[in-house]
Amino acid sequence: MSQPNPKEPDPSNGDGNSKLTWIILALVALAVIGSLITDSAFAETPTPTPTTTSSPTPTAIGDPPGFTNPTATPTPEPTTPIVCGVNCFNPSLHSIDAAASQWVVVNKLRPLSPITYKPKLDKTINLAVPAADAYRKLKTAVAKSGNGTLCLNSGYRSYTTQTNTYANALRLYGKKTAEALAAHPGHSEHQTGLAADVSTTALGCRIGSFGSSKASAWVAKNAHTFGFIVRYPNKLQNITGYQYEPWHLRFVGVELATQIRNAKVLTLEQFWQLPAAPNYKN
Ligand SMILES: [Zn+2]
Repeated sequence: MSQPNPKEPDPSNGDGNSKLTWIILALVALAVIGSLITDSAFAETPTPTPTTTSSPTPTAIGDPPGFTNPTATPTPEPTTPIVCGVNCFNPSLHSIDAAASQWVVVNKLRPLSPITYKPKLDKTINLAVPAADAYRKLKTAVAKSGNGTLCLNSGYRSYTTQTNTYANALRLYGKKTAEALAAHPGHSEHQTGLAADVSTTALGCRIGSFGSSKASAWVAKNAHTFGFIVRYPNKLQNITGYQYEPWHLRFVGVELATQIRNAKVLTLEQFWQLPAAPNYKN
């Protein structure tokens, strides 16, 4: 009984048995290490915390929306977009002087430079590229809201076209009225490709009665979420130089349009504290 059975494998004896033992031990060790790695990988996976639009992460001025630190450890991104609130508006993001800037301020005292400036236009809509993209979205949203089908009465106008537009207004209405209706060439927002005179197909795309339409009311309330402002508000001709034009939408981008709304001012001149521009210098 106390004698070892010579037929039983003795782990301490024999090359074959010893190798087998080491292989088994190695396999067991690999399995243990493998399970540890797998477990730790799962255990370390952070659960994304959903953020809500009601409490956006404050972003310092100078950080454009969506700014991320490239050296930070990558973590799963929440699917909710970051909402750029008052604190993250960067007033230096774009120029208000450069003709190609989406923030350019053009009025009777601020001609475009160069005066014959021409923007890069969209292939199908007669607007500068960013304004055309925003217009498409706005049009879809107006239709979805049940307030009609938006149409573009007038978009980009070249220096030459504006020369003719102003000349026609002058001929028809005389200087005082013409200057309240049409800009001198080189002084028109339409020459930037960022201004859209809109109406609805139900109105035959005429702008005259657009102001009393449901689409106009919807646009006035919501256009900023697409980056547009109603550029020539009612009773502010002494600042903008133009009569109330509910149809004339100016693309400035969502950041600025929203900031203007938050600031409770109505014109670009007021927002940027620029001189009122009721008349031309000459
Ligand atoms: Zn216009």
